[in-house]
Amino acid sequence: MSGGFRGPDLPALADLQNCIHCGFCLPVCPTYIATGQELESPRGRLHLVRAVLDGKAEATDRLLSHLDLCLQCRACESACPSQVPYGRIMEDARAATMARGARDRPRAWTLRALALRYVLARPRVLRSVLALARLYTRSGLQRLVRGPLARALPAPLRALEAQAPVLDRAPFRRSGVLARPQAMRARVALLTGCVHGELYPQMHEATVSVLTRLGCEVVAPPAQVCCGALHTHAGDAETARALARRNIAAFEAAGVDAVIVNAAGCSAAMKEYGRLLRSDARWALRAERFASGVRDVLEYVAAQDFAAPGLGAVPGDVTLQDACHLAHAQRIRSAPRAILGAIPGLRLREMQTPDRCCGAAGLYALVQGEMSRTVLASKMAEIAATGAHLIATANPGCTLQLEAGVRRSGLDAGVRHVIELLDESYRAAAAARG
Ligand code: SF4
Ligand code: SF4
Repeated sequence: MSGGFRGPDLPALADLQNCIHCGFCLPVCPTYIATGQELESPRGRLHLVRAVLDGKAEATDRLLSHLDLCLQCRACESACPSQVPYGRIMEDARAATMARGARDRPRAWTLRALALRYVLARPRVLRSVLALARLYTRSGLQRLVRGPLARALPAPLRALEAQAPVLDRAPFRRSGVLARPQAMRARVALLTGCVHGELYPQMHEATVSVLTRLGCEVVAPPAQVCCGALHTHAGDAETARALARRNIAAFEAAGVDAVIVNAAGCSAAMKEYGRLLRSDARWALRAERFASGVRDVLEYVAAQDFAAPGLGAVPGDVTLQDACHLAHAQRIRSAPRAILGAIPGLRLREMQTPDRCCGAAGLYALVQGEMSRTVLASKMAEIAATGAHLIATANPGCTLQLEAGVRRSGLDAGVRHVIELLDESYRAAAAARG
């Protein structure tokens, strides 16, 4: 297969020219750490993208496999002294690959585009798929497959199954006005997302409960759709743009002070709607304005007097896994720590590299299983060394991955969103007050 990049989303030469080849990004890159290979490092990948752009290399399957192995965790961006916007370069490189005709791009990329367009972007189809997964859990089959039948499964299938969620709760599918406090200080909208409310309804419940205690009326516009983060990361910019336009219209109509997102990958993507729609004359300005009103829930809560409703004890040792798209893409590191640090009885035990990716990275755990498991194994070793029995996260993808890591490693630990721990603290205070 041959061919270069195509379409409207070509990586910008000016961005690539910022790289001074210093290599500061290498020691923080999980795929470079795992392989020791220059071509699996940020600098190596930038070199490949530049070579294709300059017409000096063909975008062969082999070359693209190096781009594909990137987690898009953006740790390299945080480490770069030259402000190379690695995340957007890689998103554009993937979009420029996806934009090639279906016959001229790797089969894996086409399959991924089909899954993103015809499952994730279509709530009814997605819910049908997840209904089957829920049946799989509730029928007891999942327990059997993970227990007595585990050895009967071929290794690749066993690895895939170990990644599957345990869908044992009723999904969160509420919309409209979710909660209205007695004394209202702000009106906010919640992104309920595509899989989030299906997999982890308790995170949405906790978010609504916390925001209400802080005086927010919380609404969920019924016309909202998936934020498009996974599509952007996989290079399906066309679908990501269609989803962004629908979300902008839906949230604008809600007339709120802020759009609150409790999944770091989604808040990062929605903050970048302006860039995503930059070439669309009708939407560019609207997208910029919309993006300026998006807040990750931890960023929003930490900026309030969140201790005012009263904080009760949540005893235990917790370690925080920084979500890559919170720490590196949004540069938010202190908010989750401020919240955890304020909860009485909760001791924060920092792991060695809390902002190193856990290997979840959207669909990465499914399409790059081996590397994802390698990265996860290092993460679990760091977590075990802290002695914590609680792992706090800020993103459902990380939660899913870390739960799989806990099962694999046999660690005695639970995984919770920071907002769930704050909600638990509020409830403990309320119970103590009687
Ligand atoms: S985004 Fe993450 S995996 Fe990709 S090159 Fe940068 S540090 Fe490495
Ligand atoms: S740290 Fe930045 S400038 Fe240095 S090699 Fe990496 S991307 Fe290039």
